[in-house]
Amino acid sequence: MGVRRKVGGFVLKVNPILCDGFGHCHELAPELVKIDEWGYPIILGTPTPLADGAALESARYAVRGCPRQALTIARVDEQS
Ligand code: SF4
Repeated sequence: MGVRRKVGGFVLKVNPILCDGFGHCHELAPELVKIDEWGYPIILGTPTPLADGAALESARYAVRGCPRQALTIARVDEQS
């Protein structure tokens, strides 16, 4: 039995049709979500490593806290 390493990364995705633009996700995961001048989320475009447990937990927190269920976490596989 070996140690399993988490490879690849993730990005948050927002459904702009559902999003209400109140920016709650920015408060929950400020390292992953910025907001524009109207309060709509600007999602960090580069994948965050899955091994970054704190960032992944923030992303999950934002997904759970989104009142419109507009956020999802998309896995990005490691490029070879
Ligand atoms: S919490 Fe959800 S509804 Fe609110 S701004 Fe973020 S993505 Fe949009």
